[in-house]
Amino acid sequence: MRSFIPLLCLVIFLSCENKNKQQEPSSDFSGTSLLVLGTLQDGGSPHIGCNNDCCKSLFQNPDHERKVVSLGIIDPQSQQTFLIEAGPDLPSQFKELKEKSGFKTSENPDAVFITHAHIGHYSGLMYLGREAMNAKAQVVYSMPRMKSFLETNGPWNQLVRLNNIQLRTLKADSEIVLSPQLKIKAFLVPHRDEYSETVGFIISGPNKKALFIPDIDKWEKWERGIVDEIKKVDYAFIDATFFDAKEIQGKNIKEIPHPFVVESMELFKDLSPKEKNKIFFIHFNHTNPLLRKESVESKRVEESGFHTAKIHQQVVL
Ligand SMILES: [Zn+2]
Ligand SMILES: [Zn+2]
Ligand SMILES: [Zn+2]
Repeated sequence: MRSFIPLLCLVIFLSCENKNKQQEPSSDFSGTSLLVLGTLQDGGSPHIGCNNDCCKSLFQNPDHERKVVSLGIIDPQSQQTFLIEAGPDLPSQFKELKEKSGFKTSENPDAVFITHAHIGHYSGLMYLGREAMNAKAQVVYSMPRMKSFLETNGPWNQLVRLNNIQLRTLKADSEIVLSPQLKIKAFLVPHRDEYSETVGFIISGPNKKALFIPDIDKWEKWERGIVDEIKKVDYAFIDATFFDAKEIQGKNIKEIPHPFVVESMELFKDLSPKEKNKIFFIHFNHTNPLLRKESVESKRVEESGFHTAKIHQQVVL
């Protein structure tokens, strides 16, 4: 009898191990994948002039995980990488994208895609100029108004003149084929469009699609329904600038009309667990409690079936 006990334990151990393996999310990134390179709102964190608890200690002890919003795309089959957004953390985001790809020898991605002309989304282009990288014809895709903004305003027009960047035009709702297994499509969203249009992107890999909307006015102002759009994709990285109205006390909501996370969760509350599981909140203002994993708000998001995007997170496309 005694000799059977270790054998029985081994059988139980092996079956438990198998079970655990099945429950683990896929971590095979040998195919096309999306990489989160930054999750913060344009101003980053610590935020200039902030004396509150959210940033106070970060001026002395910066948190290197806090980078302004950006996504990378890695496509090993075609040996290409792409960057979405060129924000103030561009240098480390170029580096992480190159390192994570494992195949890239050039420091530059094959193209950069820009959603709009707010500092967290394009100001990093400055690093491609003469004072820094002096890049050679870095391909940059943007919408027509954004393109003409870059072409006709200094210092950006110097990047064009010196061929540090090579601008290409995006057309709303028109798919760009980046490789046989990778496509990207821009679509217009309502936002404060002082200098450019604002777009979101749908990135389509060989098996899965991701939606990316870092900045948008309230969902009701969009001609499309976010719930329907989520149903068409496998991942949805969406605007979570503010968790709720508490963060904008003393400011005019008309000037910053993002959907609050609490409003989005209310809108998505009747979605099935499978649909909820696609949603990753991103683009956090420095005041947003979702920046702290252990906050009650972070727990509330996860317990409700949604996620907060995490820097370095990678998903299969
Ligand atoms: Zn932004
Ligand atoms: Zn702060
Ligand atoms: Zn913006």
